[in-house]
Amino acid sequence: MNANTSAAVAADSGLHWQEGFSRLGDAFFTRLSPRPLPSPYWVGTSRAMARELGLSDEWVASQEALEAFTGNIPLAGSDPLASVYSGHQFGVWAGQLGDGRAILLGETDKGQEIQLKGAGLTPYSRMGDGRAVLRSSIREFLCSEAMHALGVPTSRALCVTGSNAPVRRETMETAAVVTRVAPSFVRFGHFEHFAYSGQHDELRKLADYVIDRYYPECRNATTLAGNPYANLLQAVSARTARLMAHWQAVGFCHGVMNTDNMSILGLTIDYGPFQFLDGFNPAHICNHSDTQGRYAYNRQPNIAYWNLFCLGQALLPLISPAAESGNGEQEFDQELALAALEPYKTQFPEALENAMRAKLGLVDSRPEDRELIESALKLLASEQADYTIFWRRLSHHIAGTPDRAAAEPVRDILLDRPTLDDWLQRFDVRVGADRAETGRRMLAANPKFVLRNHLGEEVIQAAKLGDFSPLQALADVLSAPFDEHPAHESWAGFPPEWASTIEISCSS
Ligand code: AMP
Ligand code: MG
Repeated sequence: MNANTSAAVAADSGLHWQEGFSRLGDAFFTRLSPRPLPSPYWVGTSRAMARELGLSDEWVASQEALEAFTGNIPLAGSDPLASVYSGHQFGVWAGQLGDGRAILLGETDKGQEIQLKGAGLTPYSRMGDGRAVLRSSIREFLCSEAMHALGVPTSRALCVTGSNAPVRRETMETAAVVTRVAPSFVRFGHFEHFAYSGQHDELRKLADYVIDRYYPECRNATTLAGNPYANLLQAVSARTARLMAHWQAVGFCHGVMNTDNMSILGLTIDYGPFQFLDGFNPAHICNHSDTQGRYAYNRQPNIAYWNLFCLGQALLPLISPAAESGNGEQEFDQELALAALEPYKTQFPEALENAMRAKLGLVDSRPEDRELIESALKLLASEQADYTIFWRRLSHHIAGTPDRAAAEPVRDILLDRPTLDDWLQRFDVRVGADRAETGRRMLAANPKFVLRNHLGEEVIQAAKLGDFSPLQALADVLSAPFDEHPAHESWAGFPPEWASTIEISCSS
């Protein structure tokens, strides 16, 4: 179908829509249509996501769906818009940003917002071209669905479509569109936008919308002086603490934790130069553009707190009554906002300890657990041993026979055998008689497969040559990452030499 002649026809997906973000009004967005791309083709589809949206298998595979998810024809009943937000990027106030290439089609009657990322210019595109390239779109698609299968809160992805339309990055590449799904794509940066521009009525409107839709318990909370906005800040902090615990435990680096990439629902959003750790290097920097290592793996929990502080600053006009300072400017009392942020400092370590205890297959908590966890991580870090393989082999070891030979696959990973053997002995004691059950729990908590950079790279190279079957096979494996998938053993192996030479930057 020619993109130019198809614009008038609406695709009937069977989706029902309801008013959501769009009810906030003109100050929050610009209505506009996605811009077409020539001769689109399918790159990948998540059948699980399609089912959750209630889309029929037949329609999802149709030419009409292909055109609709490329932005070439409207989805019947959708009301597309691009939203405005601002944010702090790499620690510096960046001013107005916004959906520069993502277009929100609307919200389904099941409360799922559907966005097309890479769907063309918007009023917020700034210097950008409104497009996304194939490689980064494949990475976002694969990782969204992989994270979901790992149990990590995340935006989802329905599909990726491609077009041979050229897109200039460091080299010439081709365009793609990711259809992504989340209950809301509201970011910390949306609040910062209205706070920094002094639009306090809009700020309140946005906060009320988010509370009523997603945090109704904050409305009549009696904590924090009964202030709903302080309670919102506290609730967002709690979700963010849990998210950080998930990321750290699974060995995920986001790479660009700017405040405009922080979800108000505590979801992982805006997949760019992310990476799952291969070797366990706590100081690992996955974003080639992050020269200072601001978003290094081990800094993520503190950066999240820094970002929450920015959200707190933005909410101050709603949390604290303003007083005139001597020079005529408004000053806000920070006390209540700081009190709302305080629990993060204990919630994050607690959530992380729980997540790590789950990796150890432990159901009850004992005082010695923290040391057991920390000493394992210290040992892994000392040799930068493979993070995913260590936990998986340990799981099999516990699930199997309790003899020395059965521990060999774990011992093979590390050179410092005396320290490892001592640790294994302590862990054995901790596990006690509950060995087989603990092993089973560990195998359900420690994935065999994560989206390592080199796996993404392999399927991207095939996709660039027009072969999408490796991509779909990898997507299927990652949708059940705790299963064995014997046909795909090589995807569970150590990364090849060349994996460490992959450079992923903000360019996408
Ligand atoms: P990111 O760090 O990738 O989340 O992007 C930061 C900001 O730049 C967001 O407001 C994006 O919408 C915008 N942006 C990134 N790439 C492009 C592009 N190619 N065209 C337009 N806007 C973009
Ligand atoms: Mg972003």
